[in-house]
Amino acid sequence: MKYRYITLLMGTVLSGCTSIQETLFPAPNVVFIMVDTLRPDHLGIYGHSNPTSPYLDQYASEGMVFERAFAHSGWTLPSTVSMMTGLYPHEHRVGRAPDSPSEFGSLPKERQTMAEVFQTAGYQTMAVVNNTFLAPDFGLAQGFDTFDYRGADNQDIRSAKESTNVALDWWAQTEGQKFLFWHVMEPHMDLLPPKEARGAFVKEPTVDVPFDFKQGATITKQPPAERNTQQIADVLALYDEEILAVDQQLGRLVEGIGTDNTIFVFTSDHGEEFWEHDDFEHGHHLKGVLTHIPLVFWGKGIPKGRERSVVSHLDMFRSVLELATLPIPEGTHGEMLIGSPLPSRRMVLSENTLYGDPLLSVVSETHRLEINQETKMASLWTVDEQGMEQEVLQDNLDTLAEPLFNYIRTVRGDVKTIEQVSGPSVPSQDAFQNLKKLGYIDAER
Ligand SMILES: [Zn+2]
Repeated sequence: MKYRYITLLMGTVLSGCTSIQETLFPAPNVVFIMVDTLRPDHLGIYGHSNPTSPYLDQYASEGMVFERAFAHSGWTLPSTVSMMTGLYPHEHRVGRAPDSPSEFGSLPKERQTMAEVFQTAGYQTMAVVNNTFLAPDFGLAQGFDTFDYRGADNQDIRSAKESTNVALDWWAQTEGQKFLFWHVMEPHMDLLPPKEARGAFVKEPTVDVPFDFKQGATITKQPPAERNTQQIADVLALYDEEILAVDQQLGRLVEGIGTDNTIFVFTSDHGEEFWEHDDFEHGHHLKGVLTHIPLVFWGKGIPKGRERSVVSHLDMFRSVLELATLPIPEGTHGEMLIGSPLPSRRMVLSENTLYGDPLLSVVSETHRLEINQETKMASLWTVDEQGMEQEVLQDNLDTLAEPLFNYIRTVRGDVKTIEQVSGPSVPSQDAFQNLKKLGYIDAER
């Protein structure tokens, strides 16, 4: 087993003097868990009424839960690249090209990923990923010794169970310090809960199972007052069953690995809209239902607690590396989330859409400012404690929006669209076909 030396500055001891003690202990393993399309308000630890997440709730009770954590985009590709690079979407420029909807970016080799930092430090690194937007063509394979990617379409995904088998096999066969990225897709459309979870929250749904894009689009087209509330409740119950299926596998993964010398980080890339803003699915705006995400740390050295400050995936990036005492790549962002107080009045910038006009948004503890970069129109909302929009404001906008505009000036400089995504636009025919199958391109909306 490899060890890294860490020097600890010891406090005043009985003799009354300060001493420096060389301490030797194994660097922690890190397991980074990303559940696609997972809303925090459908998890027990965030107050959900259905018991969707007994394992996660148990682990979180021994760890740190971030109540107001936000993603930097509302869909997989730019959001995941931000969490893996510590950069905003306007910096890594891996998303959808604002003026060319079928073109996507790829992360250049010069960029350093979280996995590369672990690999350089001597860790064994592995990813088990299942979303087509995580295909190697998009550049996130860099830094992984093993990148076990499986493309998905809505009808055919590698299950969380199978992904867990692959991850546990690798874990058992691999010596030394390990960094594992475990990504699963169940809560993403189509909703077809596996038999282990099917029926847990709805026995006889009033929608067809699998619940697919076509059925979702049918509901979207109905006037809001005419939508069948029972159908929507059943869609949510199926979503909850998919989450339960993931939680069962999370339990297997964590029990199989053990928490003695491992730090676990749990998050999602974005949420899902269930017609709260008169639309469905994700990628089409940056409001709370898509950008509020779960964020939980537990395992070696993680204190218990709940944090209410506004935090983001960039903070998560920095914290993962600091917890493993690894160097932080130059030019990256974020604050350490564990063990030190956070500055007050924090905000989070989110950018890039998969469908519709290009947008950016800033959320604070009290407001969200959303800017349409094409029409140059902005809207200002009050948000509740979960960052969910409550009321769109009409009065006193200049004064109320000023701190949020100032934040954009500081972080981004201006509100222009991301000029050009980097690297090849549509990566390869295979990836492009898979994207089409997944419903991301030419989707009926
Ligand atoms: Zn996603």
